[in-house]
Amino acid sequence: MNSLERARLRPVTNLEYGISSLHCWIRVFEAILRISYRLPFKKWTARTPEQKKVKEVTTAQVQRRVFTTMSLGVDQPCPGGSGNSNDGNTARTAFQQPELFSAATGVDVELIRRLHVILQAVRCCLPLCGEKLSAFCSETAELYVRLYSWYPMTPTLHRLLMHSAALVEHCLLPIGMMSEEASEARHRDVRLYRLQRARRDSRLNTMADVFGRLSVFRSSAATPSSAALARQPGGTPDHTAAGHCWLRRRRFWLSR
Ligand SMILES: [Zn+2]
Repeated sequence: MNSLERARLRPVTNLEYGISSLHCWIRVFEAILRISYRLPFKKWTARTPEQKKVKEVTTAQVQRRVFTTMSLGVDQPCPGGSGNSNDGNTARTAFQQPELFSAATGVDVELIRRLHVILQAVRCCLPLCGEKLSAFCSETAELYVRLYSWYPMTPTLHRLLMHSAALVEHCLLPIGMMSEEASEARHRDVRLYRLQRARRDSRLNTMADVFGRLSVFRSSAATPSSAALARQPGGTPDHTAAGHCWLRRRRFWLSR
C-alpha cells in the first residue's frame, strides 16, 4: 500500500462504488490512533513480548492524553457491546483541533491538517477541481510515506489519498451528495418497516416490503408536504399510519 508508484500503475475498475465520505472520518481517525500506538517501536505489528508491552503502555498513555486534553474517550468499548466510542463526532472534534490532536498522539500536525482538508473536500456539496484535489492528495500521500513508511496505509486512507480525485471526476453530482448520510438517517425507519410493516415469511418478502415502503416515501420531495396537505379541506395528515398518509397524498394528486 505504501508503494505509491506501483499503486498509481494499478488499474482501477470500481469507481462506481464511490467513497463512504461519512465513515472515512472515523476510519482515518482510527488510522492515526493506530500509528500513535506503534510510534515507539515503529513496526506495523507488535510481535515480540517487549513490543506488545510497549504498545499496551503507549495505548493507555495516548488514550489518557486525548481524554485530558480534548475530553474525548477513544477506543473505549460502548456498554451493551455496540461498537466502541470512536464515532463521527469524536473524529470531527479531533480533526478540528489539529495541534491538540497531534500533541496527544505524536502524529505529525501537518499530516493531520491535510487529512482534515481532504475529508472536508469529499463531504463538500459544491463542485471540486479534480486536478487541484489530485495534486493535494498526492503531496499528502508522499508526506505520509515519508513519515510513516513502516505502517501500510489502511484501505480507506489509500482510497482517499490515491483515488478521491478520480472519484470526484467520475461523479455526475458533487461528491458530497453521494454521502451515505441519507441512508444513515433512515436507519430508524428501516428498522420500523422491517419489524412492523413487512411480511416475515421469507427474507425476500421482508426485503421487498421494506424497499417498497422506502420507495413510497422517497418520492416525498416531489409530492406535497404534510403542511400543504393539512391546508387542503379535510386533509389532516396522519403521521401514525404511514399507509393512510400515502393514500391521502395520492387522493390529493388525483383531485388536482
Ligand atoms: Zn488503489
